[in-house]
Amino acid sequence: EGSFSQTSEGPVDKLFGGLLVSGFEESSCHSRYQSALYRKESPFKPSSYLLSKLRSYEALHRQCGPNSEPYNKMLEQLKKGQTAEISDCSYVVWISYSGLGNRILTLASAFIYALLTNRVLLVDPGVDIADLFCEPFSGASWLLPRDYPLMSQFNSFDQKSPQCYGNMLKGSSSANSTAAPYVYLHLVHDYDDQDKLFFCDENQDFLRKVPWLIMRTDNYFVPSLFLMPSYETELNNLFPQKEAVFHHIGRYLFHPTNSVWGLITRYYQAYLAKADERIGIQIRVFETAPGPFQYVLDQILSCTMKKNLLPEINMHDPISSPPGKPKSKVLLMTSLSAGYFEKIRNLYWEHSTVTGEIVAVYQPSHEEYQQTEKKMHNRKAWAEMYLLSLTDVLVTSSWSTFGYVAQSLGGLKPWILYKPENSTTPDPACQRAMSMEPCFHAPPFYDCKAKTGIDTGKLVPHVRHCEDMSWGLKLV
Ligand code: GDP
Repeated sequence: EGSFSQTSEGPVDKLFGGLLVSGFEESSCHSRYQSALYRKESPFKPSSYLLSKLRSYEALHRQCGPNSEPYNKMLEQLKKGQTAEISDCSYVVWISYSGLGNRILTLASAFIYALLTNRVLLVDPGVDIADLFCEPFSGASWLLPRDYPLMSQFNSFDQKSPQCYGNMLKGSSSANSTAAPYVYLHLVHDYDDQDKLFFCDENQDFLRKVPWLIMRTDNYFVPSLFLMPSYETELNNLFPQKEAVFHHIGRYLFHPTNSVWGLITRYYQAYLAKADERIGIQIRVFETAPGPFQYVLDQILSCTMKKNLLPEINMHDPISSPPGKPKSKVLLMTSLSAGYFEKIRNLYWEHSTVTGEIVAVYQPSHEEYQQTEKKMHNRKAWAEMYLLSLTDVLVTSSWSTFGYVAQSLGGLKPWILYKPENSTTPDPACQRAMSMEPCFHAPPFYDCKAKTGIDTGKLVPHVRHCEDMSWGLKLV
């Protein structure tokens, strides 16, 4: 069977313009070759340079991946604490850290960094990575073997660790002279000025010599890579359309496992497939009280009505039912609480709409609070991000990586609900995003050459401050 399969709308490009390769066993990961059947064709095409880079990355990964001869050799050197000889294989090890949306964004960031530095990405399996994601690289696993000698130390690595890069810079010249067998990169939102020097070309010169980079981050740091002169040309070639970086890399890396794919496809077939139009609303409320809150409900309604995303309610007139089959809209809501969904569903049951359209409102789960340690909880979170990415129109909440994943996977420029202040509905309630790219929440504001502070959101036209977080950076 070729890479195109036929649907009623015509042929479907199962491999997303060459982003994916054929040859994986289909039954081990149905989503890999089926997801195109659920997606609209993307207006964004991966560059031929990106495609060739991915193919050479896959070859490198097979050459240097777990249990390969060079891997075993590098492991021996690590165990002996030796500074490594020059080798063709060096690694970036991603530590599983933070909520699922954050982890998806940081995996993509670490992968792009690996592409730029010719490193191999190895993934701390944590408790659930293999339960959520299929293997993305053909011929070799991306999972770090459980017997990796530093794995037991992952939890204890922090800014105070002697191997932490920022800490090394504070201490002495050790971070500039000799190469270390491994370095811990602390790129978590609480990182300090020294940790942030990771984003300076001069500092990358030192890191280039370190065979094992162990990275912990909860941020999509790609926008700042675009500001580094040494990566500029390469990134421009890889991603000529800068707003589609995660769009492509996310579709390349993240294939739901069969258990998650079951959650996605059953829900899609049961509730979304038949509608004329699908609208997604992702509600994420960063409050300590559980809610639901009236000001949030008012905000959702204000945004969706004023921007004509949902039809207005007929409050006074008697029910008018125009002849013929009414147009149907499906509203897919996601939230930790059921409150907003119940109110909106009832609204469209108790009243007709001024347009005569029928609005069906669904919400897959209401898990009440974040439970990152539970398997089914994370499967549902991943399934819901994915389902949101299959909608036609998307409304997201400010500051939420959960929403970022949905929007960029889906190729959707969302309407972003502003973050409410003082428990009041913002006016305007929402704003259309400039691009579908995720926001880097904790970027550095430093000019590496001049060694002074600088507004990194004002340097180039394609890296700007985010709509939902004034100090954040995003690609447009
Ligand atoms: P962020 O905190 O919004 O940036 O997103 P994260 O995904 O990193 O962390 C939030 C976590 O809370 C998710 O991974 C889920 O575990 C849970 N969560 C938040 N909102 C929802 C939701 O709408 N549906 C489900 N199933 N889980 C959610």
